[in-house]
Amino acid sequence: MVIVAKFGGSSVANSQQFKKVKDIVFSDPHRRVVVASALGKKEKGDSKITDLLYLLHAHLKYNVPYNQVWEMITNRFNKVKEDLSLTLNIKEELDKLEKELSKDISIDYLVSRGEYLTSKLMAEYLGFTFVDASEIIKFNFDGTVNQEQTYKLTLESFEKYGKVVIPGFYGAYPNGSIKTFSRGGSDITGALVASSINAKEYENWTDVSGVLIADPRIVANAKATKEISYSELRELSYMGASVLHEETIFPVQDLNIPIHIKNTNRPEDFGTIIANECTDCSQIVTGISGKKQFTSFTITKKQNVSKTKIVIETLKIFDKYKVNIEHIPSSIDSFSVVVSSNDVSKFLYDIVSDIDKLESVESISVDNDIALVAVVGRNMITKPGISGKIFGILGDNGINIKMIAQGSHEISIIVGISNNDFEKAIIALYNNTVN
Ligand code: ASP
Repeated sequence: MVIVAKFGGSSVANSQQFKKVKDIVFSDPHRRVVVASALGKKEKGDSKITDLLYLLHAHLKYNVPYNQVWEMITNRFNKVKEDLSLTLNIKEELDKLEKELSKDISIDYLVSRGEYLTSKLMAEYLGFTFVDASEIIKFNFDGTVNQEQTYKLTLESFEKYGKVVIPGFYGAYPNGSIKTFSRGGSDITGALVASSINAKEYENWTDVSGVLIADPRIVANAKATKEISYSELRELSYMGASVLHEETIFPVQDLNIPIHIKNTNRPEDFGTIIANECTDCSQIVTGISGKKQFTSFTITKKQNVSKTKIVIETLKIFDKYKVNIEHIPSSIDSFSVVVSSNDVSKFLYDIVSDIDKLESVESISVDNDIALVAVVGRNMITKPGISGKIFGILGDNGINIKMIAQGSHEISIIVGISNNDFEKAIIALYNNTVN
């Protein structure tokens, strides 16, 4: 049984954080595979190494002197090495990179050096073998992951070395050149590695004690949910909560490997387990999230026309302007199309006028003051009284519900309210559904 432990940037920001990582890794012999992000931010004034590397690339590209940025980068790595008395020849590594710096250096290669060097330091500090992600995480030329090859190579290197540190965030094309994932992509590396070796658990160590039920900027001291399903998490993320890189879930969900979100600074906290099944399923609401600034177009049809026809005609208009549709709540003679206000701001009048010209339309109205709030939980829709309770809470707090939209898979109830009521609604829902 192996645990893959991925440590995010704040968890490896400096030598004190490295010490916490070591304590965590050594406290469970199953933690034999470590995936590391690049040195990140711990204190307020810190910068993320990845941000500095992107900045360095911009300096190179536009021929701006880069000494200061380069020094900031090298200082961070040198300090970790010195503080922990490591023997890694970081000078040689950094000198080599410095020689490669030029206007034409590949951006993916340059920024990947953050995780590469961090993982080299971590491997020595833990006494594990460093395995370069470019050797095992393989991309196709079209930029997708070559899962078969990645799984095979990762498993082989794990079987060969037993205890390994793998840099997150990047891999290689078939010709060996480096390719990174999008920002936050070390989460994906961790998931691919966990799947390759069929790990018992994929631990994702960060600086919060799990998936918080509501945004802590709105609900101070919001609690973490103990267990949440992969689909509930996707629903929450879609509605604005940021937890893991969104592509993280697929590889591990296929094999039913639980993701355990843990806090490096408070390892004693339970954190959150993300899995298909719950062990304690008593918690009904697992998350409340939402987004502001939506616009809804409500279209009423003439009585003798088919709804299918008018819905198709209307959607074609949104497609013409390439506007993404969020929801289509409907009733007998009318339906609404809810879209992000930002997406339609430039074409609002054109869209309204195009819809208005449709023969089967009786009337159209627009409301551009909509926030969507999603209450996510296990089998919400099938639990009697839950929707009633949610609408009751909002009503008791003087919040007008403008629209009700069904979320996916019966795991969420989504309501449209005024932007001004957004924070108030989330606080009221949290206070009355979470104990
Ligand atoms: N270091 C990369 C970033 O800051 C990748 C990661 O940390 O997941 O985006």
